Amino acid sequence: MKTPTLYIVVPCYNEEEVLPVTSGLFAEKLADLEKKGLCAPDSRVLFVNDGSTDRTWEIVTELSRRDPRFQGIAQSRNRGHQNAVLAGLMEARNRCDVTISIDCDGQDDLNAMDDMLRAYLDGCDVVYGVRARRDTDTVFKRVTAQGFYRFLRWMGAEVVYNHADYRLMSARALNAFADFHEVNLFLRGLVPLVGFKSTSVYYERHERLAGKSHYPLRKMLALAFDGVTSLSVKPIRLITLTGLVISLLSFVGILWALITGLTGHAVAGWASTACIVCFMGGIQALFLGVIGEYVGKIYLEVKARPRYIIAERTEEMEEKP
Ligand code: UDP
Ligand code: MG
Repeated sequence: MKTPTLYIVVPCYNEEEVLPVTSGLFAEKLADLEKKGLCAPDSRVLFVNDGSTDRTWEIVTELSRRDPRFQGIAQSRNRGHQNAVLAGLMEARNRCDVTISIDCDGQDDLNAMDDMLRAYLDGCDVVYGVRARRDTDTVFKRVTAQGFYRFLRWMGAEVVYNHADYRLMSARALNAFADFHEVNLFLRGLVPLVGFKSTSVYYERHERLAGKSHYPLRKMLALAFDGVTSLSVKPIRLITLTGLVISLLSFVGILWALITGLTGHAVAGWASTACIVCFMGGIQALFLGVIGEYVGKIYLEVKARPRYIIAERTEEMEEKP
């Protein structure tokens, strides 16, 4: 196999603090990979500016003026991490043989790229970067993150345990992935559905080099919920099942009421009635909410709005591949 052209896809949202540090690390890594014969000299680092409100895009354009290995595209507005990664991958796929997506904050160990590329050269089209340990996380982050994967699995979404969005994808896998048209993006759940030969590479995750996380608990919960509802209908099945159980129970209740009524033992049962009414009201509202969530997803999918819009590009990215 020929030495592959690699595009490292890096989403950036308000990262002016960390970009000057990590861009240097990315360039060093490219040089290192090239020296080891794992990637071709025309490999690139592709920054995707996700509608930052700080100097992120100026930094990217400045970097690409100084060094052609740095390229960038800018989204027309902030659309979130998943869409930024998708934009970068879709732009990169016709220009390279293989892509690696990675966050720009230096948390993920760049040295795992060596093993990822070796796995690619061995014939894998998808290589997942998996965190071996979570020592640098707070106990709270660790517990919530593990709960996140368990919950997703239990709900029927196929995800690789402890894998986020640090992953290698070949151009072939990306071309297949381009046919997945959903606007509700949850990449780590969708990529396994693309198929092809895949493997995992283990690495240790560090702390952010600078700046702060954009994923507080609120966003993690939203991501988990989105992940489940865009990948699985298990919650609706569980609702149906609960409905069935409640119907059976109420059938027994009706029988009991009839018998006590007919035998003349009926008592003024306000408390039990009130409890049942409250319980039924609550559970129905909850279930309607879950079903509404799916209806909302369908609404968004039917509209099929663009998942990303590119407003600006660095020079080389303007050219047709
Ligand atoms: N990011 C993005 N758009 C957003 C939020 C985040 O492109 O709306 C990028 C961000 O610049 C970073 C990556 O997504 O490169 C992961 O974000 P962050 O490090 O804040 O999340 P964490 O690692 O804490 O989960
Ligand atoms: Mg991070």
